[in-house]
Amino acid sequence: MKIIDILRTGKPTLSFEVFPPKTDSSFESVKFATEEIAKLRPSFMSVTYGAGGGTSKYTLEIAGNIKKNYGVPTLAHLTCVSSTKETVKERIEHIKQAGIDNIMALRGDLTPELENSDRTKWDYRHAIDLIHDIKMSGKEFCIGAACYPEIHPESANQSEDIKYLKEKVDAGVDFLTTQMFFDNNLLYNFLYKIREAGITVPVIPGIMPITNANQVERAIKLSGSFMPVRFKALVDKFGQDPEAMRQAGIAYATDQIIDLYANGINAVHVYSMNKPDVAKAIQSNVSEIIKR
Ligand code: FAD
Repeated sequence: MKIIDILRTGKPTLSFEVFPPKTDSSFESVKFATEEIAKLRPSFMSVTYGAGGGTSKYTLEIAGNIKKNYGVPTLAHLTCVSSTKETVKERIEHIKQAGIDNIMALRGDLTPELENSDRTKWDYRHAIDLIHDIKMSGKEFCIGAACYPEIHPESANQSEDIKYLKEKVDAGVDFLTTQMFFDNNLLYNFLYKIREAGITVPVIPGIMPITNANQVERAIKLSGSFMPVRFKALVDKFGQDPEAMRQAGIAYATDQIIDLYANGINAVHVYSMNKPDVAKAIQSNVSEIIKR
């Protein structure tokens, strides 16, 4: 099932993101965790893709298993940076064969190693190049792409970022998912600006529940997200107490999610990080809201 058709129903949706194993030996435990999340019957599940290829072989195995055995629509992430046209063609073909209808088309992060490599040899420079190839693949995939309420770290400013985002969407993107953010006002402001710029596709806010203090530094480094004072206070107070931090992190994310639904945003994506207990707690916290 295509995600855009789920979004078009206008009903509140709650979806979860999982990531594939990093090593062969962790495959079974990751498979188990993703199955536990699938049992919650979310609106859909997305499965990330390792930019360096490390975990990529399992993206489709995990996504295919969730779809086939649990009937949950899946979104397979695909990155293109440092890939050749041939490999990407092959990967799209595999997604097709796995019966997956949705692709999250991404460039992938520029690791320090990639930053120093010879870019003239790259077949892909930006996600838009991948979107063109998916459109030419012979199957009508539903295509998602990433957007950044707090600006992509490589962008000089927000107008430039939104200009390229519009080009990306116009190339055939059906919906956008945001980078994590911890202050909903940043999203509302971003939505206002992109709608003004003529970007009309659905935007799914991505919410990351921070359930342990170690995640904080990594999350900020990855996303460059602004940490509101209210959130910092919570980490300061409960960061050293794992159970208290878990509870506070879930409550904070729930609060963000309820505010989004209350402000007319119908679709929310949770970066559930292979944590079924966190996914379950959040789903239960909003169960009456998403039933509407
Ligand atoms: P792009 O859309 O190519 O944008 C990257 C930068 O280039 C931006 O600054 C943009 O403004 C600029 N730009 C875009 N087009 C042009 C152009 N034509 N000319 C000049 N500049 C341009 N990474 C993974 O490795 N695996 C994943 O599974 C994964 N999933 C993600 C899911 C979401 C929802 C998000 C938000 C990010 C995800 N990422 C993932 C991280 C993502 O790969 C990085 O954020 C990456 O740095 C940018 O990817 P992009 O697709 O947004 O790139």
